[in-house]
Amino acid sequence: MSRNVGIPNVNLPKTKSEDCHDNDCPFHGTTRVRGKITKGVVVSKKSKNTIIIRFDYVHFVKKYKRYERRNSRLACHLPECLHHDINLGDLVIVGESRKISKTKSFIVLDKVKKIGEK
Ligand SMILES: [Zn+2]
Repeated sequence: MSRNVGIPNVNLPKTKSEDCHDNDCPFHGTTRVRGKITKGVVVSKKSKNTIIIRFDYVHFVKKYKRYERRNSRLACHLPECLHHDINLGDLVIVGESRKISKTKSFIVLDKVKKIGEK
């Protein structure tokens, strides 16, 4: 059985728990998701079990009374059972967890949009 992580709009992966041996998987492992939930576009899938997402946001500049666009990158853990579902350019939903490595403390939960989909 996959554990329900209790976050709205997150579907459980179709993979059976027997096929997922990832301890850091929020659905089949022991790592829990708590804290911030955010969305981002996958920009890199080069490293094993890790993806880089990019999220855009606007920042208000007081002096000019205008907004400037900013973006930030975030390393996220990609659970074994989602490995084949997530591709470059997809919009994914990620949740904060305990620190998994030096730069990783977020886990990919679900795909929101496929690349090219509106
Ligand atoms: Zn899993």
